[in-house]
Amino acid sequence: MIRQTAYTVEPWCVREQTLDLDMLAQSESVFALSNGHIGLRGNLEEGEPHGLPGTYLNSVYELRPLPYAEGGYGYPESGQTVINVTNGKLIRLLVEDEPFDVRYGELRSHERVVDFRAGSLTRNVEWRSPAGDSVRVRTVRLVSLVQRGVAAIHYEVEAVDRPVRVVVQSELVANESLPDMGKDPRMAGRLESPLVGEESVADKDTAVMVHRTRHSDLRVGAAMGHEIDGPEHTVTMDGFEDVCRYTVATRLQPGERLCLVKYLAYGWSSRRSRPAVHDQVIAALAAAKMTGWDGLVREQREFLDDFWAGADVELDGDAEVQQAVRFGLFHTLQAGARAERRSVPAKGLTGPGYDGHTFWDTEMFVLPPLTYTRPEAAADALRWRHSTLDLAKERAEQLGLRGSAFPWRTIAGQECSGYWPAGTAAFHINAAIADAVIRYIDATADEDFARDVGFELLVETARLWRSLGHHDTKGRFRIDGVTGPDEYSAIVDNNVYTNLMAQRNLLAAADLAEQYPEQARRMGVAEEETADWRDAAAAVVIPWDKRLEVHPQNEGFTHHARWDFENTPSDHYPLLLNYPYFDIYRKQVVKQADLVLALHLRGDAFTDDQKLRNFVYYEGLTVRDSSLSACTQAVMAAETGHLELAHDYLGEAALMDLRDLEHNTRDGLHIASLAGAWNALVAGFGGMRQYTARLCFAPRLPPGISRLAFRMRFRGRRLCVTITHDETVYELLSGDPLQIEHHGQPVNLDGGAVRVDVPPTPSRPAPAQPPGREPARRDKTTR
Ligand code: BGC
Repeated sequence: MIRQTAYTVEPWCVREQTLDLDMLAQSESVFALSNGHIGLRGNLEEGEPHGLPGTYLNSVYELRPLPYAEGGYGYPESGQTVINVTNGKLIRLLVEDEPFDVRYGELRSHERVVDFRAGSLTRNVEWRSPAGDSVRVRTVRLVSLVQRGVAAIHYEVEAVDRPVRVVVQSELVANESLPDMGKDPRMAGRLESPLVGEESVADKDTAVMVHRTRHSDLRVGAAMGHEIDGPEHTVTMDGFEDVCRYTVATRLQPGERLCLVKYLAYGWSSRRSRPAVHDQVIAALAAAKMTGWDGLVREQREFLDDFWAGADVELDGDAEVQQAVRFGLFHTLQAGARAERRSVPAKGLTGPGYDGHTFWDTEMFVLPPLTYTRPEAAADALRWRHSTLDLAKERAEQLGLRGSAFPWRTIAGQECSGYWPAGTAAFHINAAIADAVIRYIDATADEDFARDVGFELLVETARLWRSLGHHDTKGRFRIDGVTGPDEYSAIVDNNVYTNLMAQRNLLAAADLAEQYPEQARRMGVAEEETADWRDAAAAVVIPWDKRLEVHPQNEGFTHHARWDFENTPSDHYPLLLNYPYFDIYRKQVVKQADLVLALHLRGDAFTDDQKLRNFVYYEGLTVRDSSLSACTQAVMAAETGHLELAHDYLGEAALMDLRDLEHNTRDGLHIASLAGAWNALVAGFGGMRQYTARLCFAPRLPPGISRLAFRMRFRGRRLCVTITHDETVYELLSGDPLQIEHHGQPVNLDGGAVRVDVPPTPSRPAPAQPPGREPARRDKTTR
């Protein structure tokens, strides 16, 4: 676990001042840089020591067989695994006779800082070699948010107290060997040497390598170019199949520096020829060189200034969470900004965890903050889903269903889940996609998207629900034998979350069919079909337990035995690694918010009293063995008036990786939890909901937060909402007048600031969690 003091608490950056080699893999995830297309883990430039080397390109994967002890019809036979592509981060250093390696000699000072406004990772080191020669090394690294295929490193080495001969070697290396990462099923399969060399050209200060994956047949190009500034020096360039090396040798007097700028360009294609991929990366490199280092730094800052102007969250009273929320938003942006019609994986491009797969995490947790802060990135992620629609239709057909059955986990669109009870059966992924489409359309009024992309996604998912469910003899519409978000119950009948989300999906599809009759006709959507969707939606089964006066998560759930929480030792969590699914499935125990997620997303389908009772009931059963849970529990704790509890859950969601709360940050960041921290603040304490086109707020702060201000984009406008314990100030920063809702009352925004009172929150006894599964309470002095 990452120590609480590993990073200093600062509002706009994460700073590490001592290097803990046992935590290297974790810090490489925390310091990862990405633009959604290229991902560079925060590996040290010299390559060693490392926790886990990682360089990723969105959607570059290798196929691997999915073997089954006992196969079955419709089981996916081939899996997709993200691969570590050509590493361009490497810059090795020789100081006199000693390789610069922090495990030897003396590391006199060390600092790494990721800056959320600059979008760069800076490292400052002073090192004394075993032979007594001291150097200072300063590196600044960025992955450009403006030039999608470009990354760059500014590298400086300085002699400290006596003259030294230094040799700097800048490399491109393919097929690095990777450490064994153990047996955790959430980790990636390790592929040895996934790249086959096709070309390696090295000349003067520039080198290009083109490789191909063995089975998925993708071509990957990487190029590097250099600029040098410093005393007299010699340079050489070597090129081999898997290594290109640019070497600079010089002699530095004390205080003298050698400065190297390394430009990197990446590209890949499943179709383009080797020369075309070669030219693509050389062209990207030329553009980067033309922009120059200072230009790349400037562009990066301008991009981020613009982002924060419509996205920043300020929080008074909890400095740790302030930092963590900006860290989370920064990584959410990095994951999605330039993904451009490719997926946004559960770990972004920060590590190989979960094989680099994309799940419902994207639509359900990552897209809400992007929709309201960087809507174009949300649209692109949905366009990627749209581009995989044919595969989803094929999968539905294979399953004997209509419409589309989107994959539970995938990189390129094919189902890659080998465990069908928590894969194929988790049809709610389709509702998550539909929900993100509806939210995006409501938040942006983007007609082109609605007509050309959103409508088809809604129609095909509506068709799926209609064929997956059936009307029983009483006419009620049932969806049987599916798995909801809680993976500790599987193959259940009438999961409330799934049914309510399907209902919304069916109605939204029918509404859009009326709005776009031409498109509807082309897709063969006749009036009978939309009437059928509306009938199914109106008759959907929502189970209710009269005795307990709560909603069972699915039919029969509240009749099951409760899990024996009292006799479950704390080191037996997560349960999935310590107990058989057979036992977990037949007990009342909840891995992650399921019914409680329905309370948030379909709050319009529950009374206030039902929300209160349901929330308390499920608090007692939820163990949060998934990082996707705390943020939703925060939202509903806030709505039901348990504000301190909401604050604790917010802390857990936001600090998931800065504290390594799930002990697997080394495999990559939990992007959904980081994005979820924004949901916890804005939908939780801001009470933001959008069940219709109207934006509603119901702000309330916990005692530990004295002020919360957030900015967001909405239908071409920028808004700022500032909440204190007594009042809320709504400001329209730009754009046309707008009517919103504050605690159920309309408020007109047409320029100036509008102040309204915040009603008091009734006090209620705090609900109990299973023993030992209370949210991590933080020391109040660090807040
Ligand atoms: C959760 C899923 C989630 C996946 C990837 C699992 O542990 O139960 O809901 O999609 O992790 O984050």
